[in-house]
Amino acid sequence: MKVLVINAGSSSLKYQIIDMDNEQMICKGLVENVGMKDSNLCHKVPGKKDVVVKKVISNHTEALQTVIDMVTDKEHGVISSVKEIGAVGHRVLHSGEDFNDSVLIDDEVIGICKKNSVLGPLHMPANIACIESCEEVMPGTPMVAVFDTGFHRTMPKHAFMYAIPYDDYENYKIRKYGFHGTSHKYVTGVAMDYLGTDKARIITCHLGNGSSISAVKDGKCIDTSMGLTPLEGVIMGTRSGDVDPAVVEFMAQCHNISVSEVLNILNKKSGFKGICDESDFRKVNELAAAGNEKAKLAVKMFAYRIRKYIGSYYVALGGVDCIVLTGGIGENSIQGRAAIMNGLEFLGIDFDYEKNNQFFTEPVVEVSKPGSKIKVLIIKTNEELVIARDAVRLTAK
Ligand code: AMP
Repeated sequence: MKVLVINAGSSSLKYQIIDMDNEQMICKGLVENVGMKDSNLCHKVPGKKDVVVKKVISNHTEALQTVIDMVTDKEHGVISSVKEIGAVGHRVLHSGEDFNDSVLIDDEVIGICKKNSVLGPLHMPANIACIESCEEVMPGTPMVAVFDTGFHRTMPKHAFMYAIPYDDYENYKIRKYGFHGTSHKYVTGVAMDYLGTDKARIITCHLGNGSSISAVKDGKCIDTSMGLTPLEGVIMGTRSGDVDPAVVEFMAQCHNISVSEVLNILNKKSGFKGICDESDFRKVNELAAAGNEKAKLAVKMFAYRIRKYIGSYYVALGGVDCIVLTGGIGENSIQGRAAIMNGLEFLGIDFDYEKNNQFFTEPVVEVSKPGSKIKVLIIKTNEELVIARDAVRLTAK
């Protein structure tokens, strides 16, 4: 069966078609700058030249139609009609407390997603627009919602509750949810296969433009660094991660701006960007290597915060068998990985700095030395495959 995977961001739409008979990707692509003047689509088919279409794409409905036109295009497409698609898997940001697993989409599910839009006002409307457009373009094709929060639904209450008035949890569902669930789930599965056991204490570090860390016991998430929104946790490209909540009011007074304007700063102008004016980690490292003190500080702050999370999850898990590094930084940044591991020897990590010093193409690489008490694995994440697998699992029911 061929599965179309749709991953809509606030101004983007990523897609893949995966042949689930062999789990091979048939095509993938990205629509960027949806709703802006310079929107475009880049379509990739393995073994062929990339196709780029530049045109104004005003909203996610138009973006989805542009994707469908491309994948069924006579010259560049990979299917002759949408009828070849057996199921659609939609990445949906927020499950709220309504879903414990991915779910087959029907009108009731869409209604609940609309109600939960308040928990993800940037992403949820885009997710819902793509679901509704797919229903129009390919009526009758089963669709599955795979929630970014899904993997974290196993967190115990003492881990997901904030110590705010209990009524605010009951009335407004204010609590920690966690994100990047498909990535944490995928690398957990690969790590357990690699370790040859599903009884393992694993810390998964998804480190990219957005970053989050999870504590996973025997395949189930028991804690994660992101919270009600993806702002909490480690330091990211443009997000501050953890700050004293009182900073919000203080900044609002200092700059004479509103709470939403402060949150915009904490989401879009903080993190690496706030410290050294550069949000891309590769460029931050280049600046640091050239002697830029603020860039050096940004790398140190990033690594230090991650080490603190690893330390706290070591305690939460009662020891650790394996640490997984994934995401653009975890998979690719030699300097980033080394900076994080430097200082964790006392936990029983014998990190192989020499082996780390290269670019890997393999799906899993053990980058700790053979005798290391805690294994460190670099795993290439595959969020689309998790979504497609759930689409197959739920449509087969
Ligand atoms: P992601 O959001 O998972 O796509 O990750 C994006 C982040 O990974 C950006 O900060 C990139 O700078 C970083 N990244 C990607 N490739 C490399 C690389 N070769 N070296 C260092 N950082 C990288």
